[in-house]
Amino acid sequence: MNKTTLTFYGGLNTIGGTIISLQYGDSRVIFDFGLVYNPQKNIFDGHIKLRRNALVRDYLKLGIIPNIDGIYSKDDLSNDSTIVAADGYSGNTAVLVSHLHLDHIGAMGLIDATIPVYMTEDSLRLYDTLDVIGEGVAGNRKYQTCHYNQSFAVGDISITPLQVDHDILGACAFHIETPDGAIIYTGDVRMHGSHPEWIEAFITKAKKLGFDAVIMEGTSIRSEEETPEDMLIANKELSEDTLTETLLPFKMADILTETKGLGVFNIYHRNIDRIHGILQAGKKSGRKVVFEAETAQLALTLMESKNFLVYESDELRHSSLSEWRQNLLNQIPAISYKEINENPNQYLVQNSYASSLELFDLHVEDGIYLHSDGVPLGPYDPAFENLDRILQLVGLEKIHMGTGGHATPQNLKYIVDKLDPAILIPLHSFYPERLKPKTGVQLLPQYGKSYVLSKGKLTEL
Ligand SMILES: [Zn+2]
Ligand SMILES: [Zn+2]
Repeated sequence: MNKTTLTFYGGLNTIGGTIISLQYGDSRVIFDFGLVYNPQKNIFDGHIKLRRNALVRDYLKLGIIPNIDGIYSKDDLSNDSTIVAADGYSGNTAVLVSHLHLDHIGAMGLIDATIPVYMTEDSLRLYDTLDVIGEGVAGNRKYQTCHYNQSFAVGDISITPLQVDHDILGACAFHIETPDGAIIYTGDVRMHGSHPEWIEAFITKAKKLGFDAVIMEGTSIRSEEETPEDMLIANKELSEDTLTETLLPFKMADILTETKGLGVFNIYHRNIDRIHGILQAGKKSGRKVVFEAETAQLALTLMESKNFLVYESDELRHSSLSEWRQNLLNQIPAISYKEINENPNQYLVQNSYASSLELFDLHVEDGIYLHSDGVPLGPYDPAFENLDRILQLVGLEKIHMGTGGHATPQNLKYIVDKLDPAILIPLHSFYPERLKPKTGVQLLPQYGKSYVLSKGKLTEL
């Protein structure tokens, strides 16, 4: 008899790298397929070179991707590998991607090209642009689209993507159903973004579809000192000091209006809402926004906005231009540091960490550096101290002007309580055990173990 099993390969008590397989008979879906985010322990320290043609073998050896039969190409596996290659596997497999953060997609390019990898239409639009600007993931394959609220089948498994709000375009949760029952995988979610109503709609739709278990992210939940128990009481509201994606541009504009010199910002440009927010902050404070070429390309393609300039970096000045850069500059004027330096207080200029040395050319006296969730994100990343060193050298004051992509603990608990699943599986968290169900049971799975879904229960195989 066919049964439904869930196997957990990654992301249980790390931030990201969630890899789960749900199997019914010979049909199987795997979601997501990213890499754990941990700048301190990353074996690729900037010195060791990736072997582009041996990634699957190397990542398997390093334990970065899991040993799963039937998803890797025979050519990519080592000769002595015991893993069954994709062409030797008889089952029906698809990979689902909830959103395009690297901790969810980092390894999806390594899946054999014959296996479909699904992402939402919005995600694919974003991915195609990321690929153009050189930020696609390693590997060479095509991606399939799925659509919010539209079910599709992988063998006997039915999948329905449900839109959620997260700090990236195209994020979704998945409702996954087999003849034995259904589960919800939330992906990453937040309620302080531009669209909290999407979370409410997600909850309503999920409940309507029905489910036995919810697999839920718990990123924001920390130790008892940092997240005391009273912060884990369900609450839909945000505390007064929570900066929302919507409030952020106003806050930035206030600071920029008070600032006598140049405005500089550092964002993570997959958050298209933030690009929009920067343009708003520029407008409100009477400053022209200057994007680096890559972000300008995203804004042009995904927002159809042309209300900005392109920063003429050292690279743009001195290298022969790639086709997309040439196209971009045909549509959007570039501006040099010399022009900006004539009137620094009329500009809001992007400066990514990788381009920090551009700050040496800019007149940053009396200026401000708005750290708005670009890398490096925090002191746990060794690059954070390095950034401070550079800012100190040029004498530029940094302030944090961002808001995260993950729901606050109260909001997480609100979502859990509203969904009220019979089985709650918290993960994508350093403290998953602290996210408790309202009336159901909590399951903290173990790596590599399989659990059978039957009659509303999940039991170890
Ligand atoms: Zn994540
Ligand atoms: Zn994410």
